[in-house]
Amino acid sequence: MSYCGVVEVRSLEDALGATCAHSATAKCSDCGTALCAAHAERCEFCSESLFCPGCLSFHRIEHSKPAQSDQLTESPRKKTA
Ligand SMILES: [Zn+2]
Ligand SMILES: [Zn+2]
Ligand SMILES: [Zn+2]
Repeated sequence: MSYCGVVEVRSLEDALGATCAHSATAKCSDCGTALCAAHAERCEFCSESLFCPGCLSFHRIEHSKPAQSDQLTESPRKKTA
């Protein structure tokens, strides 16, 4: 049996926070933190995955980045010889 490991931080004064500690129903697919139903957040782009709130924010940043495969395959050319 496992419990939600998400730390609730409601204000700056409450920076230490406390773990949610509801019974976990899922697990963050990034960091592996146990998540209760309220904290298991689904990425709208890859709906298979559940994330904790912190990992979801980082995960969304990854989606917002442009694909770099074009830059890797394209070698820079200089026209000035
Ligand atoms: Zn996580
Ligand atoms: Zn929770
Ligand atoms: Zn995603």
